[in-house]
Amino acid sequence: MSTQLFTTAIAGSLPKPAWLSETNKLWPQWKAEGDELKQAKLDATLLWIKAQEDAGLDVIGDGEQSRQHFVHGFLEQVEGIDFEHKVKMGIRDNRYDAMVPQVVATLRLRCRVHAAEARLLRAHTKKKIKFTLPGPMTIVDTVADQFYGDRVKLAMEFAELLNQEALALQADGVDIIQFDEPAFNVYMKDAADWGVKALERAAQGLSCTTAVHICYGYGIKANDDWKKTLGDEWRQYEQILPALAKSSIQQVSLECYHSHVPPHLMALLEGKDVMVGVIDVASDVVETPEQIADTIGEALKYVPKNRLVACTNCGMAPMDRTIALKKLQALGLGAALARERFR
Ligand code: ZN
Repeated sequence: MSTQLFTTAIAGSLPKPAWLSETNKLWPQWKAEGDELKQAKLDATLLWIKAQEDAGLDVIGDGEQSRQHFVHGFLEQVEGIDFEHKVKMGIRDNRYDAMVPQVVATLRLRCRVHAAEARLLRAHTKKKIKFTLPGPMTIVDTVADQFYGDRVKLAMEFAELLNQEALALQADGVDIIQFDEPAFNVYMKDAADWGVKALERAAQGLSCTTAVHICYGYGIKANDDWKKTLGDEWRQYEQILPALAKSSIQQVSLECYHSHVPPHLMALLEGKDVMVGVIDVASDVVETPEQIADTIGEALKYVPKNRLVACTNCGMAPMDRTIALKKLQALGLGAALARERFR
């Protein structure tokens, strides 16, 4: 909790500049390699730190400029993963196909994964910084396992590796560590049975703020098509939020604006900070500050005002860069308007 009402944050990813990688893609190809690529990633991170600060955001992230994809970026530094022989696999309960690496041996972290960008972030802003990692259950759903043969065991192995990196990120000065678990909205029963437990293992021993992001995915066609099959009321959160409310995780990031989630489900998160999605990442239409303040007002019926963080529905990686920038600005202005309206 913070003293200022309605602090603002992004869910995680931001578009990569065209000089860094292909644009408007979920798995873009880099445009440089070796040391040049390393430097380009940090340059892009610095650019987005400045853009978030200029937009008046309160919690600053790295925009995930250093990773090709939010899950595979972490896996690149894990021993026991074969990236040479990727296989095609239906992910998120076969919603769409992805080329995924394979688990072929005992898993171990090769080295630090995100030290460079986390330290750069810490060095260049005085604001709170948030760092995102994929959640264990979502990782399990985005790799082909040829070794462990058990999803729960595999999730716990990944949770331990995530925990090592999370503790190191905390030592780098990160204030909030967020795990991204879109798979929770797909495998609700598994999420409640063991997903939350794996998540808590990943966050074990952290004294910084912990968070989880659960969404209906990026604004890509496969997700848009899937959402059309979910009916008028999306009630997935109803099955997982009670388990999260009982967990040690302190903040929960959810979709709100333009989603068909009944807003009253947010009341299930009593005792947690709620990062309310007030920016639609599946639409190029930029929200007005009034619309954002309205969404905050709706959420305030179910979330105490000192626990509400205004956020984006999901990451913005596949978006057009100029639109994403305008949405960041709208987020800053909308939260400022809400502070006047609801003080
Ligand atoms: Zn998301």
